[in-house]
Amino acid sequence: MKKLVHLMLLVLFVVVLWPSQGHAATAPKLFLDGKSIVPDVDPIIVKDYTLVPVSFIATGLGSGIEYIAQTKTVTIHNSTTNIELKIDSQTAVVDGQTVNLDAAVQLLKGRTMVPLRFVGEQLGLNVEWVQETQSIYLTKKQAPPEEDPSQNGEQPDPLETVGARPVPADAVGVVKGIEFDGTSAIIISYDGEISPNEAFTLQGPDRIVLDLPAVAFAPEFTSGFKLASSGVRSGEGRLVVEGHPLLNQVRYNSTEAPSAVRLVLDLTQASTYTVNQGNGVIRLDLTGIPETDQPSQPPVGDKTNGVFRVVIDAGHGAHDPGAKSASNRTEKEFNLGLALKVQALLKKEKNIEVYMTREDDTFMELSDRAKFANDLKADIFISIHANSFGTTARGTETYYNRDDSKGLADIIHKHFLKGTGLPDRKVKKAGFVVIKQTTMPAVLLEAGFITNKEDEKILYDDAAQNRMAEGIVAGIKEYFNQK
Ligand SMILES: [Zn+2]
Repeated sequence: MKKLVHLMLLVLFVVVLWPSQGHAATAPKLFLDGKSIVPDVDPIIVKDYTLVPVSFIATGLGSGIEYIAQTKTVTIHNSTTNIELKIDSQTAVVDGQTVNLDAAVQLLKGRTMVPLRFVGEQLGLNVEWVQETQSIYLTKKQAPPEEDPSQNGEQPDPLETVGARPVPADAVGVVKGIEFDGTSAIIISYDGEISPNEAFTLQGPDRIVLDLPAVAFAPEFTSGFKLASSGVRSGEGRLVVEGHPLLNQVRYNSTEAPSAVRLVLDLTQASTYTVNQGNGVIRLDLTGIPETDQPSQPPVGDKTNGVFRVVIDAGHGAHDPGAKSASNRTEKEFNLGLALKVQALLKKEKNIEVYMTREDDTFMELSDRAKFANDLKADIFISIHANSFGTTARGTETYYNRDDSKGLADIIHKHFLKGTGLPDRKVKKAGFVVIKQTTMPAVLLEAGFITNKEDEKILYDDAAQNRMAEGIVAGIKEYFNQK
């Protein structure tokens, strides 16, 4: 029943139009509980809806935010509500229910802009537009009064009071926002003066550290922090990024006497980066995997008999099922089914020898799969997988790691995509073990999303799998013909 009421409220939110604001030359003013709040990026008005940077939602409203780069999804959540928004999409998923938005979430100069009224109301705020002053008033619904912890003999955690202190006198700059732009950059917005130290890297695990001396967090900056009952931040803040090929998360904290803010980027593998500064923003871009001394490329094909060796790797197996599909089937089953079809087709090619990492429901360690291909001195390596995420993500993508695999990835992807007939999620670079530890051109195929009902139907369809296998083989033959 609660669900029904919830749904009706959602419908109500969506049909209530934001009052017309004409063509106001200036951005609307924002107030939270009567206090003026100035986001570091001006709100914009799109089709009578006000969009604000997502950092405002986190900082101003104390909500958690997560980005999933692969799917350009941003999730905003507090203790009761979970809102999933997607860049350029006009639908949102609120606590599992799909809801239409009147204005799409958009990326503006690297910032994620989200509809304020919709998100505010979902997070339990009253949102009021005052035409005369071109202002938006956000008010938190009254929470029941907190019990005084001193009444029951408990001492407040000393860490939990740190954020309540005003900005220390020696801080000449304050950090107002830390955001991920959804693709490759961490955006730090600030007031005052900040002269960052040169960023440095650490190994084991790979990290990038950026120190901002004589800097504190703005008192209202709480994004990513645990909040004490008094509403102040405690411990270190965290911006979690899922599904990014390089970045796992950003952690940040501050120290006092002397004041400093430190950011640590936890990486999946070493990455090069650049740091730029201007207009109240410091931007740290991850620019990719550094060039390393790769073993030189073995010659393609066996020169004596003109036969190419191809390794087909069906992902997962046995106790490792891979992802679970929408109707509870396993990824390993799809991977093996398609791999065996590719094997059967390649066996008919007289100048190709096909080798399988597995031909049944068995398991092989990732590094052993790479070693298998390396020991064989294979000419190419193709790993077959299916993707999983939420219920709406769809499409085919092809991954490569080293630059010498890009040509193979482009050609295979072109033909494979025709075979799947699914949306094109393009060729991407990532550090999956099997395509990183192999020494020959290597690609990893993510055929589609088995967690999406439409993709799933195609991926487990026998005729569709035949088309996918034909696509992979056509790609392999085109690649070898160019050699
Ligand atoms: Zn997989």
